[in-house]
Amino acid sequence: MMDFKDRTVIVTGGTRGIGKAVAKAFAGAGAVVVITGRNEEQAKKVASELDGNVHGLALDISNPTSVSEFFPAAIELLGGIDILVANAGITRDKLVMATRDEDWDDVISTNLRGTFLCAREVIRPMIKKRSGRIIAITSVIGLTGNPGQGNYAASKAGVIGFVKSLAQEVASRNITVNAVAPGMIATDMSADISDQAKEAIEGRIPARRSGTPDEVAASVLFLASDSASYITGETLRVDGGLAC
Ligand code: NDP
Repeated sequence: MMDFKDRTVIVTGGTRGIGKAVAKAFAGAGAVVVITGRNEEQAKKVASELDGNVHGLALDISNPTSVSEFFPAAIELLGGIDILVANAGITRDKLVMATRDEDWDDVISTNLRGTFLCAREVIRPMIKKRSGRIIAITSVIGLTGNPGQGNYAASKAGVIGFVKSLAQEVASRNITVNAVAPGMIATDMSADISDQAKEAIEGRIPARRSGTPDEVAASVLFLASDSASYITGETLRVDGGLAC
């Protein structure tokens, strides 16, 4: 079991799914964690249900003002920031010819610009501390593309390029920046997919099953751990072999 005793962690979008599993795993390993959701009450409710030292705060990563207000407050509450997990994300799936401007903009401003805005907020405090870990949750769709997910694929591929760039900017300051690329994971996000489509996807996964949020969380904790101190700019697939 990895030890994160008293490490300070912010997980964006920790009210359910992968973010919640990540927060639970960090809190279980001794970290002090802030989770976020767009609704403060919901974030606080989920935080109170998790064992350990977990706080819930409101944050909308698609809104630059919300981001610039949230981070100083969260970092003050935690007494510093060791680890950022930029997890929050959305889908607006449509074939490209049916994608409206707002479907494109919503996904890019949440998944891609939101990741950039959150990472930018933690760089200074991490540089001052001369240590830090930034882990962005991208997707195998950012590596392979997918019909009906042009906006999502572009946002997640963008995150991978962003992570590689930022990793090179801050490596000399003892800050690592990596991405985790989940495949098909059983959460609310994948719940909308029909059983038939899910079976078809699972048939293409060499492991022949969807992954769990806990399996993604385990890879996030590894990248945040001292054991991963020389890994940076990497994208770690957690996909049962889907995008081999
Ligand atoms: P869920 O839809 O289950 O959860 C999404 C989380 O993001 C919620 O906590 C939600 O909080 C939060 N969120 C959404 N929009 C915003 C926003 N604008 N500002 C702040 N928080 C927001 O998704 P998953 O857990 O499945 O996905 C988590 C990440 O993993 C995403 O980046 C997703 O793209 C990625 N991923 C998921 C895969 C899957 O199969 N599930 C596969 C590959 C990648 P709230 O609604 O409370 O505001």
